[in-house]
Amino acid sequence: MGIKINGFIFSIPVYLISVDTLFNNQFLLLYMTDQNVLQIYDRIIISQSLEIPPRSRLYSLKPIGVGTPYTESISSYVSRLAQEHCLPLKKLIMGEIAPAIVGDQYQPEMLSKNVSILFANSDAKPAINGMRDMTRSLVNALQQLTLCQNLQYLSCLTWKEVIKERGLFRQEKVWCPMCFEQWRQENKPIYEPLLWSFKDVTYCPQLHCKLVDRCPHCDSQQKAIANNSRLGYCDHCKQWLGYVDSDAEIKINEKERQIITGIGELIATAPLLNSPPTLPDLIQKLQLIQFSFERSLRQDLTKFITLGKILEQLKITITQHKSKPLNLINLLIPVCNLAKISISQLFKEDVSTLGSILNINLTQQYDLRR
Ligand SMILES: [Zn+2]
Ligand SMILES: [Zn+2]
Repeated sequence: MGIKINGFIFSIPVYLISVDTLFNNQFLLLYMTDQNVLQIYDRIIISQSLEIPPRSRLYSLKPIGVGTPYTESISSYVSRLAQEHCLPLKKLIMGEIAPAIVGDQYQPEMLSKNVSILFANSDAKPAINGMRDMTRSLVNALQQLTLCQNLQYLSCLTWKEVIKERGLFRQEKVWCPMCFEQWRQENKPIYEPLLWSFKDVTYCPQLHCKLVDRCPHCDSQQKAIANNSRLGYCDHCKQWLGYVDSDAEIKINEKERQIITGIGELIATAPLLNSPPTLPDLIQKLQLIQFSFERSLRQDLTKFITLGKILEQLKITITQHKSKPLNLINLLIPVCNLAKISISQLFKEDVSTLGSILNINLTQQYDLRR
């Protein structure tokens, strides 16, 4: 049973039908009452023609966890996009993404080639989630094809000017088998957080188990982007990589915890910044921290044990290397910990606010000791 409007029969219950092409920019409002009786209300006449939003070439897939330490990585996003289109990753990359990256250089034969034609050597490793030129190309291509904006937050492109890339990212993919298993049991999407691409992230901050880099079935290592990558499954034997290991919980040392927390903060902070941080701005903030440490030392010389080494590193960085990106793991994270500020505060707060925070943090510490 249906209703007949202008010669068209509608048999499904609907609240609003857009029929601008059929009825000259007119909407029909249909309302389902409590008694399940379909009523027709007056037409709304729209005087201007309706703007149809632009359509994306690929499904506009929403990335997972943006603004949190567990933000999805760009390599995970592209794998999930292939899954959503029911395509092998190779077909999606070589058929849709490669033309957007190589432009006029694209030849149809590339469709049958392996992804290694596009993602050679380091580009197929977790470093693709960092700050490489190919990372920028991949992000731009995916934004253009999905019309999803801000996919740069699935990489570390935000930090390219201020953080040193060398040694920061892994050569081989790692994953948390317990997270994979938990997500599967909870029917959550399987994805790979950007956090797992950092070399210094060795355990899962959520389940406190060690990240692993080999398939439990065939002992193979995995690429970040491979021809037939499927999230949560081995590239080689195709078996599921998740499992529960009740003895897997490890004791975490404080330094490791600080580093992983710092990296997580960095990932979560990127979307909160109005613009990517600049080196002169960061150096100015580090100078402020240096002055605060020196003042703190003048008040209490016993602090030299904890502050002396990092203070020396800060001085060298500020005077000799101020035009180069800085080391996240050995400089920025320890400096923030000693200044009792978060990585987020270092990048988000302006110099004046940061000065007030440092004043309180370091003075309070001094007063408590007295
Ligand atoms: Zn985990
Ligand atoms: Zn395997």
